Amino acid sequence: MEATRRRAQNRTNGKASDSTEKSAQWGRAWEVDWFSLLGVIGLLCSAPFIVFYFMMACDQYQCSISQPLLALYQGETTLLSIWARAPSFLWSAAKIYAIWVSFQVFLYVCVPDVVHKFIPGYVGGVQDGALTPAGLINKYEINGLQCWLITHALWFANAHYFHWFSPTIIFDNWIPLMWCTNILGYAVATFAFIKAYLFPTNPEDCKFTGNIFYNYMMGIEFNPRIGKWFDFKLFFNGRPGIVAWTLINLSYMAKQQELYGHITNSMILVNVLQAIYVLDFFWNEAWYLKTIDICHDHFGWYLGWGDCVWLPFLYTLQGLYLVYHPVQLSDTHALTVLVLGLVGYYIFRATNHQKDLFRRTNGSCSIWGRKPSYIECSYRSADGGVHRSKLLTSGFWGVARHFNYTGDLMGSLAYCAACGFGHILPYFYIVYMTILLVHRCVRDEHRCSTKYGKDWKRYTDAVPYRLIPGLF
Ligand code: NDP
Repeated sequence: MEATRRRAQNRTNGKASDSTEKSAQWGRAWEVDWFSLLGVIGLLCSAPFIVFYFMMACDQYQCSISQPLLALYQGETTLLSIWARAPSFLWSAAKIYAIWVSFQVFLYVCVPDVVHKFIPGYVGGVQDGALTPAGLINKYEINGLQCWLITHALWFANAHYFHWFSPTIIFDNWIPLMWCTNILGYAVATFAFIKAYLFPTNPEDCKFTGNIFYNYMMGIEFNPRIGKWFDFKLFFNGRPGIVAWTLINLSYMAKQQELYGHITNSMILVNVLQAIYVLDFFWNEAWYLKTIDICHDHFGWYLGWGDCVWLPFLYTLQGLYLVYHPVQLSDTHALTVLVLGLVGYYIFRATNHQKDLFRRTNGSCSIWGRKPSYIECSYRSADGGVHRSKLLTSGFWGVARHFNYTGDLMGSLAYCAACGFGHILPYFYIVYMTILLVHRCVRDEHRCSTKYGKDWKRYTDAVPYRLIPGLF
């Protein structure tokens, strides 16, 4: 089967098409301004240290963010002694990590999806991605749910029956594993960078800005692949990081049990709410092919290193914190967190579902019991083809232009609030997600306005707010 096909050009004389005459090709920047360049270099230099700082703060300072800085300021410690006390790279951790990544590669490449044959409503197996800027449509083997199920079944089988390794294995090797994930993250980003020059998968979808740092960080190739099916974006976005997310939390839970002889309700809440989010991701993996990560971002350090290091270490800070601070919440507090998390999840999922349903049925569906309203628009791809599209203005998409992000932020706040109010560290996630999603919102709107021109303006007039009606 062809893993990529070229979409036939679709010329139109429709009402909305006049704006496309002026609209530029969409996708990420072709030229880099000084501000973006400084941001890129700053992130490349600081991001690994930010991750290290959080891990070290938990390991050496009971998860206090301020204490290491205060200790340095007051001369009680030095950078060298902090570094010397941090667990170093271990070959045993490298072995664990190599087995883990190889196993995920094996599941991804060698075990075609069968789950979609048994579970009604689940979309798995070979699926089409979105149209790329160069007018290509890639095919993907969607088997993330299956990989997640197999991996977790093995985890539980080991924990309760085989006892090959301790369920606390991840926590016990956490900082040595961090060095390994960094090695993989940088190796993948560097490989993708070199590959884009020497043997790109789809040369028409490469973007060279002329700035080496920007190219390295934001990526050159749109959908780098090895062979027909090993798609870098789908694999790295989902597998080593997001499959691991729930295992990491389970390992934290096992550590709490080992250290204190019981598991707190806060740890259960964090495990349950984040597991819902992770399972939702895999249940909707085919839908994920149409999200910004896959259909607009190029693959570079930002995605490669981010998925290998940033995601598994910083998205799981709440569980890590609860190992050091086993917070037991009052019933009211726990219930409030649960309701906030579930309502946030509902808004996040329902909003994403409405857009997906609307786009899949080309508007022939019902949203909140009515025929949806929308703005008809058109755009031009790099091959000169003119394509039509629709922007939904009903349901949650009529409330705000990114209400899915609002739901996501409510869920994120719930994870943090599950840790009580003793320290700031578990709240890093909501701060980070707010920056990420607000930046994403601005970035996406800039891209959409370039893509749809005047039609986008008609849409923003119809739905004036981005995240919170009346506020932003
Ligand atoms: P969206 O799913 O909101 O996709 C944005 C795209 O949808 C736009 O570029 C546009 O694409 C299309 N679109 C925009 N408005 C409309 C409309 N009114 N009707 C129809 N189509 C529209 O964004 P993301 O891909 O960023 O996010 C997907 C989900 O993933 C979100 O819920 C987000 O919260 C979550 N997420 C989570 C992250 C995490 O780290 N936990 C990180 C990033 C995202 P087109 O060109 O097709 O018109």
